[in-house]
Amino acid sequence: MKILSVASECAPFVKTGGLADVAGALPPALSAEGVKMTTLLPGYPAVMAALDKGKEVRATGDLFGAPARVLAGKAAGLDLLVLDAPHFYARSGSIYLGPDGRDWPDNPERYAALCWAAMEIARDGADGWKPDLVHAHDWQGGLAPYFLKKHLPGVPSVLTIHNIAFQGLAPADRMASLRLDPGDFHAGAFEYYGKISALKAGLIYASRLTTVSPTYARELLTPEFGMGLDGVLRQRQADLSGILNGIDLDVWNPATDPAVTVYTAPSGKAPNRAALRDEFGLGEADGPLCVVISRLTEQKGLDLLLEAVPALTGRGGQLALLGTGNRSLEDAWRAAADRLPGLSVRIGYDEELSHRMMAGGDAIIIPSRFEPCGLTQLYGLRYGTIPLVALTGGLADTIIPASDAGIRAGVATGLQIHPLSADSLRDGLARLCALYSDRSVWTRMQENAMRHPVGWEVSAADYAALYGALTEA
Ligand code: ADP
Repeated sequence: MKILSVASECAPFVKTGGLADVAGALPPALSAEGVKMTTLLPGYPAVMAALDKGKEVRATGDLFGAPARVLAGKAAGLDLLVLDAPHFYARSGSIYLGPDGRDWPDNPERYAALCWAAMEIARDGADGWKPDLVHAHDWQGGLAPYFLKKHLPGVPSVLTIHNIAFQGLAPADRMASLRLDPGDFHAGAFEYYGKISALKAGLIYASRLTTVSPTYARELLTPEFGMGLDGVLRQRQADLSGILNGIDLDVWNPATDPAVTVYTAPSGKAPNRAALRDEFGLGEADGPLCVVISRLTEQKGLDLLLEAVPALTGRGGQLALLGTGNRSLEDAWRAAADRLPGLSVRIGYDEELSHRMMAGGDAIIIPSRFEPCGLTQLYGLRYGTIPLVALTGGLADTIIPASDAGIRAGVATGLQIHPLSADSLRDGLARLCALYSDRSVWTRMQENAMRHPVGWEVSAADYAALYGALTEA
């Protein structure tokens, strides 16, 4: 089976969030299932550099206004098709944002062009290669199912929602520049409250929809989580399923991780904990050393944690936070770190440091208001770093809670709080400290966590089955 994955970011080349991890991890996981996935990426500078010498397999004088080509090649073990369209992608800095910190004004065209190229590759082939199915991701891939339906209805498509908060809106007067049919500007197609929504186009026209956890698939059907698209999703409920993300077990492996003092049992975390305290300027303490590794946005609930953190530091616990995002939240965390002994903050994005934090932390705190899947709790499990999470989305599906029954049965892997508030977080942090002080209970939780399956095997088989059902149909 040959699948074309259409993604706006892909680890290890370009990453702003979990979508990149999934786009990078899925192809090798699927190859074990007999599925050959080739990934179409925008030719951002980092992708062009990684590709080394790509082979030109397609060329056009006019891709949405300027010449472009498609290069085929391999990089980091992935089979890539790279859309070399300098007028859209040869820009330094963030892939989505201009120097002013706002979305590039032509983002709708930048990703419509990617989707158009996907359709052309499926229709005309790239060096003789044609996919059996196109798997698009998030709003940036949303127009691929639409273009396929209009120009190549025989090829099925899957759209995966990694985060419904990003909907790819554009003013209605951009229909021509996006190559959309004005006849489809209505509520049953891509029109969304008077605008164009690339995500909605994907939700309507894809053969099947997936999201990245079973709980988020259910939550998306509700107004609280569907963010205006719950009605569309309810209509397509029969075609929507949740398939959990996995993590790359080679990259995230405490037994081999080059960034840490390697370990295979919870006791091996001690030198990493000591090193992490040093690195964050935190002294010795009796309570748990907690970590946060996150975008600093409304979604992640870190404003609530900021209110609740004295419940941790007041009990001898500590918190090391690594994150970047919302300016006022960054400032608020910095200011709190100046005030509160036991709290240390690094504003920035640092992949290597995130590994050291996973190895050195006793617990990882993830108080998200919503979380389609979440990856850091999975890294936490693998590293014996106990997750304290909000009961939502993939966080609900991947943690076995330390309820009294869970503790008695010896199966717990983490703590869940519900409903999410500063108060419930305070209670959760207090419980975390209490559990931490009971060494046998805590060690048992760590052992359970480290054994919990967090790889791609099960989910890769689910995707392969979905592709199989669509291509046989
Ligand atoms: P989201 O995609 O909503 O940001 P996920 O938990 O699915 O959340 O994925 C986030 C990914 O980005 C994880 O791999 C996490 O380790 C990483 N990450 C987030 N913030 C940082 C940071 N400041 N430094 C290093 N890695 C980060």
